[in-house]
Amino acid sequence: MDTMRIGPIENHRAKEEGILVYPVYSRRSQGLSVGINLFPDQKHCSFDCPYCEIFPFKTNTLFTLDRMERELGGVLARAPQARDISFSGSGEPTLSPFFPPALDAAFRLRDEYAPEAEVAAITNGAGLLDNRVFDTLVQQASRPRGLRVWLKVDAGTEGWHRAMSRSAVPYSRLRERIKAFAQQAPFIIQTMLCLIQGAPPPEAERRAWEDLVAELALAALSQGRAPPTVHLYSKARPAPEDPLAQSLPASFLAEQAASLTRSLEKQGISLTVLVFP
Ligand code: SF4
Repeated sequence: MDTMRIGPIENHRAKEEGILVYPVYSRRSQGLSVGINLFPDQKHCSFDCPYCEIFPFKTNTLFTLDRMERELGGVLARAPQARDISFSGSGEPTLSPFFPPALDAAFRLRDEYAPEAEVAAITNGAGLLDNRVFDTLVQQASRPRGLRVWLKVDAGTEGWHRAMSRSAVPYSRLRERIKAFAQQAPFIIQTMLCLIQGAPPPEAERRAWEDLVAELALAALSQGRAPPTVHLYSKARPAPEDPLAQSLPASFLAEQAASLTRSLEKQGISLTVLVFP
């Protein structure tokens, strides 16, 4: 039986099993965010981040576009004040074959019921290695009031990338694709800062990450685009692999934001850095 949830749910990670549409209060949106989960059956992701909040689960519920549209329309009709419609859920949304038509449906329903809301996709970026996903994201992000792409850039070095993603995706290739994306479409850099096995990102890693942010900003500027905004955040919820990854204090994030800003200023680059401890 389909279940439509209207009120914000408090711990969506524990409850999005089997659900497709879930309103939550989002600290980064600072308001009601309507999540779209393309994977109600089980987690699907190309990364295996040690801080990932998705606990293992398995259901018989499969995603259908009809059900998503019905539930999203129902939620937005009752919550036209929603700040955003966000593709995140139990994994990497670009892995789903439903991602492109679900995006089109979300924009249509946004325009009909909640015209002020943004449509966002939270992605680990690995999909950029696939030309079809790359093109979909460029196209959707470039349309008027288009997709807000929140792109994970957790590392500057191959070593920290492996520690943070535990994926086989070569970071050198991924970096090149992210850079190409920066030349073609707007996006937000989202970077998780946390302890891994008790250790913070090493100093060399932090400098390499700052260099990568500068590269991405320059790639955008070279095409007449605004440089990406940077979101720094830390672990805020329980994760199945606790205590492998642990949160860092707000002071660490603030110091990293200040260091990045200083480093960019020396290169004549100005961009917005927001901190979400
Ligand atoms: S990319 Fe996101 S969904 Fe995938 S493992 Fe990492 S935190 Fe979890």
